Amino acid sequence: MSYQHQYLNGSPLKLPTGKVICVGRNFAEHAAELNNPIPTEPMLFIKPSTSVVDMSEPFFVPRDYGSVHFETEMSILIGETLKHASPVQAKAAIIGVGLGLDLTLRDLQSQLKAKGHPWEKSKGFDGSCPLSSFVSLDEVEDLQALDIRLWVNDELRQQGNSSQMLNQVLPLISYCSEFFTLEPGDVVLTGTPAGVGPISPDDKLRVELDKLLSITTQAV
Ligand code: ZN
Repeated sequence: MSYQHQYLNGSPLKLPTGKVICVGRNFAEHAAELNNPIPTEPMLFIKPSTSVVDMSEPFFVPRDYGSVHFETEMSILIGETLKHASPVQAKAAIIGVGLGLDLTLRDLQSQLKAKGHPWEKSKGFDGSCPLSSFVSLDEVEDLQALDIRLWVNDELRQQGNSSQMLNQVLPLISYCSEFFTLEPGDVVLTGTPAGVGPISPDDKLRVELDKLLSITTQAV
């Protein structure tokens, strides 16, 4: 099924599916679990629009390139063009808040990192970005006080809170817009809490964004 941004109630948003700007190591505990130093400024990378699929549908896990890791992240849907935007302008451009999986070919990423090569193949492959529907920003009391949780086969694997982000959402979007013009339909993924790990075909996942969103899905 082709992907379309939508609200939680299922009504489609009149926005194209754009690029996904991601930030690496935005939670200190996650940086530590992969033995990575904490970056001194936001570490950005992009998943192309072709990476996006609907999280509520079963999603495909590649089998041919080693381990595939889940990273559960709060997602931000952008509704206006942002270039050199202030945090206040960034806030005004947010349409909704949801969840995304930053699927990562971890073995391939490690090989590419060791060679000093770009990560793109390990992070931006087709289907590497399952996205949930979005809750309108009006329904979110505090963007920086939301629990993010993932269960795999009923076992709690990731648990964090957006208060732990090293770069908070609005300054992060502002920073992104210094380098990449954000366009309506683009999404920002705000980094994963600790607990990342491998996912296999047939695993059942449940992700929650505080009391706002709860989605069950499955890897195939
Ligand atoms: Zn990530």
